[in-house]
Amino acid sequence: MTAQKPSSLMQTYARSELAFERGEGAYLFTADGRRFLDFASGIAVTALGHSHPHLVKALVDQAQKLWHTSNLYQVPGQTRLAERLTAATFADQAFFANSGAEAIECGLKLIRKYQDDFGDPARYRVIAFEGSFHGRTLSTLAAAGNEKYLKGYAPVVDGFDHCAFNNLNEVRAKVGPETAAIMIEPVQGEGGMRAADIDFLQGLRKVCDEFGLLLMFDEVQSGVGRTGKFFAHEWAGVSPDIVATAKGIGGGFPMGVCLASNKVAAAFGPGSHGTTFGGNPLAMAVGNAVLDIILAEDFLPAVNKVSAHLDAHIDELLRRFPGAFEAKRGKGLMRGLKCANGVVNTEMVESLRGVGLLTVGAADNTIRLLPPLIVTAAEIDSAIDMLAAVAAQAKAA
Ligand SMILES: *Cc1c(COP(=O)(O)O)cnc(C)c1O
Repeated sequence: MTAQKPSSLMQTYARSELAFERGEGAYLFTADGRRFLDFASGIAVTALGHSHPHLVKALVDQAQKLWHTSNLYQVPGQTRLAERLTAATFADQAFFANSGAEAIECGLKLIRKYQDDFGDPARYRVIAFEGSFHGRTLSTLAAAGNEKYLKGYAPVVDGFDHCAFNNLNEVRAKVGPETAAIMIEPVQGEGGMRAADIDFLQGLRKVCDEFGLLLMFDEVQSGVGRTGKFFAHEWAGVSPDIVATAKGIGGGFPMGVCLASNKVAAAFGPGSHGTTFGGNPLAMAVGNAVLDIILAEDFLPAVNKVSAHLDAHIDELLRRFPGAFEAKRGKGLMRGLKCANGVVNTEMVESLRGVGLLTVGAADNTIRLLPPLIVTAAEIDSAIDMLAAVAAQAKAA
């Protein structure tokens, strides 16, 4: 008897059998020519769709010149991207990383360093929220506090307290002499596409000001136009101290960035933090190309227009198929559909794949709709038709 040879990949994902060969705009194609409408976008990453000519050109041009030099030298693309990001947002300074978790880690370190240098050195704890997701490193797992992901990885990194999402009274009660900051996703992704209430986000700013805490937003998923503003927190008109973003900013090239105000970023000096790969010329070329498009005057208005189209159709789906979908979640093109009792979200995702629509599951029996920001009304109609076809089956079951 021969034992089955184990896979040479660590089995950290329950992967679908699908393998894609190429992509174009909102579509992905398998080697055998099957076409899928991509409302997953590699989990909110390919913000401008697949093979966007402007991004491809930026990457190819840079690849022919220079790939990597390290942060021991000036990286002109980095300076340019930092200037553009800070001009477009609350921020004054940027640190470039390779992923969402690393961008969050930078923010968490900056919180401690800021309190140590300029605030109250006793303050090191961060208040975070139930249902959140901040990445898979030991500290970002501790920050989210999700038992499912922490199991087996004890001891849990110290320094995080958790409150119910959208509950300001609980936050106020949790602030203590060791609290340094509050960190929150303005729209929870993984946790079920729940949007924070506008007055809750405004309340968090007040609590931070009152107690000398920093306010940090995790916009790894909600940032870079996903909700129709450059950052989702802009809907609340709240100015944070630190924001981490990643997914959409690279359009599919791995990169993350931690943004902060001058007041807070002043706590970092040479040697305070670092990265070998972060801010590499290839990533910066693509990041700048993404901004060329997203910061164009007519881009976000178009996202909001197409979001309204999606929104109206989702409302109609909810009316037509109460046996399949129970509620609409999220904001802009970061939409969730909570499946009805007895309908399992992961099975729904699989059925949708079967008819040619890619979506992503999330917690709380939700499916995520994350089309590229360049999605057209016709592509949305096509996705809605597939959702309706699968919902009709779910109802019959
Ligand atoms: C994806 C995600 C992260 C982690 O990003 P990685 O690039 O996977 O490390 C952190 N926070 C939020 C809100 C995310 O959606």
